[in-house]
Amino acid sequence: MLKSHNCAQLAEQVGNQVTAAGWIARRRDHGGVAFFDLRDASGVIQVVVHDEQLAHSLKTESCVQVTGKIELRPAGNENTELITGGVELNAESIQIYSTAAPLPFQLDDGNEVGDEIRLKHRYLDLRRPKMAGNLILRSKANAIARDLLNKIGFIEVETPTFTRSTPEGARDFLVPVRLQPGKWYALPQSPQLYKQLLMVAGLEKYYQIARCYRDEDFRADRQPEFTQLDIEMSFVEQADVIKIGESIIRALWLELGDYQITDIPWLTYNESMRRYGSDKPDLRYDLELVELTNYFKETPFRVFQAEYVGAIVMPGGAAQSRRQFDAWQEWAKQRGAKGLAWVSIDDAGEISGPVAKNISNQEREGLLLATAANPGDAIFFAAGDISEARGLLAATRSEIASQLGLAKPDQWSFVWIVDAPMFEQTEDGGWTSVHHPFTSPNSDYLDSFENSPSEALAWAYDIVCNGYEIGGGSIRIHNADVQQRVFSLLGISPDQAAEKFGFLLDAFEYGPPPHGGIAFGWDRICMLLSGADNLREVIAFPKTGGGSDPLTGAPTTITAAQRKEANIDFRPTE
Ligand code: ASP
Repeated sequence: MLKSHNCAQLAEQVGNQVTAAGWIARRRDHGGVAFFDLRDASGVIQVVVHDEQLAHSLKTESCVQVTGKIELRPAGNENTELITGGVELNAESIQIYSTAAPLPFQLDDGNEVGDEIRLKHRYLDLRRPKMAGNLILRSKANAIARDLLNKIGFIEVETPTFTRSTPEGARDFLVPVRLQPGKWYALPQSPQLYKQLLMVAGLEKYYQIARCYRDEDFRADRQPEFTQLDIEMSFVEQADVIKIGESIIRALWLELGDYQITDIPWLTYNESMRRYGSDKPDLRYDLELVELTNYFKETPFRVFQAEYVGAIVMPGGAAQSRRQFDAWQEWAKQRGAKGLAWVSIDDAGEISGPVAKNISNQEREGLLLATAANPGDAIFFAAGDISEARGLLAATRSEIASQLGLAKPDQWSFVWIVDAPMFEQTEDGGWTSVHHPFTSPNSDYLDSFENSPSEALAWAYDIVCNGYEIGGGSIRIHNADVQQRVFSLLGISPDQAAEKFGFLLDAFEYGPPPHGGIAFGWDRICMLLSGADNLREVIAFPKTGGGSDPLTGAPTTITAAQRKEANIDFRPTE
């Protein structure tokens, strides 16, 4: 070894001759003596250099080996925030392994550096203890999940990356096949079909920390490739999968977040939509939507003569200035809404604001009671198409919470959203699966989902943490007839089904067991546990929001020769 100890171990070595190695972090010169923090993967140790010339030649972030004696720091100079804060390494010799060029940005934590430059020099960015800490946390999360699942008989299986389309509903990333002109692999949007095949294979308990690829529109907080903890089990019902899923989440939060999760409530999808306007409600705070459709049934106000009218109360919101209410309008418009109707209630209970003039006296008088608002509050309204209006109120709810500081970052709320609908209507009037086409209707709708597809409920469940969906899964269909009926409702003909998923349907000819599973969004879970606010902080080499990798320059154009070799332009002759 080129070092006798890791930096963090040196607190225990007072009086001993040691050799440490790492990078020169922060340095300070004090005329005649120089100090620098030597950083390795374990932590830092303060190094004292008496040789001025040598000290001068040491460039920040160069890689060095330091030999010398560990001494107690002079009284009053200790740093209680560091494990090694009571000692220092008095350098007798320093070997420079490699010198660092001038840095593109300072590595000190807390320094605001643009994402592009951080990603371009990710190897420097990852030298920051916070970033390295995120990768360590992620590695521990993997170990916790593996350990827990291995102990209860789960088998880790790797499934292919080069495959054909899977049914997650996004666009596929495609890979041309040089040796089979005109043919393409699709990268899996998840291991969904393989994990079901493993159940037909009799494995009973599968998991994988799997990479998934979905070609969706860019969004700041989306990565084209991401990781799931993917699980599938046979001979189980919804409650069994939820139990296993919950044990993983509990273990992660206990061991990595030092937080004991108590009971995780279940909320039906419909109830969640009704009360919070969202299927991923942040339950760190209450603030429920109030439905007023009936209340405004006879209203003279045209805007409220709608499919749905709902409201949300902002406690103390009447104290906002007119400018602040105007800012809400801007905010709503940016979200694609026409505006955000509101009233404010003064201390005497008098209602004013644009909506107040338009509604009837009776409606005005009963409003406080109907919305459970108090003097001093403001009420925001949304009316129109039920899902759009609820969507606006849900966003208003989180904006109110953020303005009022209702959600504390170190506070956790978990909830299972169950009984999700099986289908949703497409723009052309057809139906599409809410989860995926292999999700089973729950027993109440097994025989009748075709009669009223919008009402049919599935054995599908999501787990939500602080307003983020962190996992989701379903019980699958294992009966060929039911599967056929689902396909036909979705407008997938037997030929199309055979063409797309024929291999799975074939497998289902050979005694598929009842089965179900779940997948956890691993990047998001690690993000929440590390207290980061962006997925990129917990991925070693992520893409930017625009899908590029400033480090390697990917994606790149390809040469004409590569294009030809990959047979990209091949067109079948017929
Ligand atoms: N494959 C699903 C997904 O990626 C998860 C599951 O149903 O297990 O969303």
